[in-house]
Amino acid sequence: MSQKPEDFFKHVISHSKEYGYIFQSSEIYDGLSAVYDYGQLGVELKKNIRDYWWKAMVQLHENIVGLDAAIFMHPTTWKASGHVDAFNDPLIDNKDSKKRYRADVLIEEHIAKIEDKITKEVEKAAKRFENFDAAVFLSTNARVKEYQDKIDAINARFKTALNDNNLEDVKQIIIDLEIVCPISGSRNWTDVRQFNLMFSTSMGSVSEDANTIYLRPETAQGIFVNYLNVQKTGRMKIPFGIAQTGKAFRNEIVARQFIFRMREFEQMEMQFFVKPGTEMEWYEYWKKARLNWHLSLDLGADKYRFHDHLKLAHYANAACDIEHNFPFGFKELEGIHSRTDFDLKQHEQFSGKKLQYFDPELNQNYVPYVVETSVGLDRLFLSILSSALKEETLEGGDTRTVLNLPPALAPYKAAVFPLVKKDGLPELAESIVKDLKFDFNIAYDEKDTVGKRYRRQDAYGTPFCITVDHQSLEDKTVTVRHRDTMIQERIAIDKLSTFLEERVSLKSLLKTL
Ligand code: ATP
Repeated sequence: MSQKPEDFFKHVISHSKEYGYIFQSSEIYDGLSAVYDYGQLGVELKKNIRDYWWKAMVQLHENIVGLDAAIFMHPTTWKASGHVDAFNDPLIDNKDSKKRYRADVLIEEHIAKIEDKITKEVEKAAKRFENFDAAVFLSTNARVKEYQDKIDAINARFKTALNDNNLEDVKQIIIDLEIVCPISGSRNWTDVRQFNLMFSTSMGSVSEDANTIYLRPETAQGIFVNYLNVQKTGRMKIPFGIAQTGKAFRNEIVARQFIFRMREFEQMEMQFFVKPGTEMEWYEYWKKARLNWHLSLDLGADKYRFHDHLKLAHYANAACDIEHNFPFGFKELEGIHSRTDFDLKQHEQFSGKKLQYFDPELNQNYVPYVVETSVGLDRLFLSILSSALKEETLEGGDTRTVLNLPPALAPYKAAVFPLVKKDGLPELAESIVKDLKFDFNIAYDEKDTVGKRYRRQDAYGTPFCITVDHQSLEDKTVTVRHRDTMIQERIAIDKLSTFLEERVSLKSLLKTL
């Protein structure tokens, strides 16, 4: 069933709530803006995604170890990292609607609209010509070239304005492009200002002695300040990585896209420490490895693309995003950054402690360079949930809502049903659950018709439904129904565990990497 993207996005949000995936934080008090809670199914999916990332990073790499650093850190950390002075977003207000926007996002959305026009031209031409060659068309069509030149010109001007911190010109770009506020429809903009995204609080009970400290805006700094602890106690040899998952906090200016942009969110980051001069090799390596990891989820290769950064952050010498095609278009899912030796050098300078590595092969000390992979767990969750959610029309005109989640990530791996609530079927079904529950998260359901129970599990994303019927009492077999194909097969009860293990374990997914 085709739906407008904005309607589909609403459907994702309502499905998340209806089935216990995601609730708005403190909903009974009308919610807290851009803060969300994960419900009974959401917490399982989130945990499974985190586990898959962790195992792919730490368990499959001998030279990557984990860390769990505290959210609070010494305030000087954030001076050293540059966040106190430079962790800003350019904001702009529309004077008529009083709505606030990120100036860079307004410009990027304008560019995305021009890109859409190019896509439409290509689609139109593909319909018109047989043997259509998109590459030839893109390079020869005058209208497409005009659009592309426009995009290049905006990008070039925008990049210069950002690099020079020329906020007046950022505003002028918005005016020149005739960008209007989507709410008021007016071009009555304020000046562009920088806004620091860090949340602060105070530590200590006596107000005069209290220190201003920050809620970490990224998990990476916890890794940097522990670099030497881990390297020495873990006897790590370069190249090696430290992986961490945990909460991060940003006072986002605009937070209107559900769990895509939250004020409290979770990051999964890995800092890979390398010999200076080898960082570009490792940057390419991690770009490929991370894209591969996303592709292994089998949600569609066309849903991912790389986007090189126009403006490099103050610490990076190369950076790109893996973008995902969310219900509202291609947006950043994961960042891969070559962070040079910036962070470790800054921490050396601010702490007065050496953070070097003695390289036995070179017989020399140096501050390692760092390649970072940084993905938002909540964004990843949204990318998976929205790619998996389908409305299907079945033979006979009936419809069903199904979450085609990768089986290894699904909250429940299987649901067990007794066909009827008598004749000893519930007891046999319960004994199957008892047996499987040590290895798998299993649902048990005996309410309503089996058809209704199938639909419920489809909406949860449960890959397999196991039905116990009268034949099961005689021959110790059950019906296993596959979520995606709806095919049913008969399987011996004592083979269920192996059957599931092969199809729903993280191992089955990890082996594809
Ligand atoms: P954006 O440009 O979308 O603001 P960013 O470039 O500031 O993101 P990074 O600092 O590179 O993001 O953070 C790494 C990852 O953390 C991002 O790729 C994203 O998945 C996640 N992330 C960042 N900010 C948020 C947020 N406010 N809510 C949810 N996830 C976030």
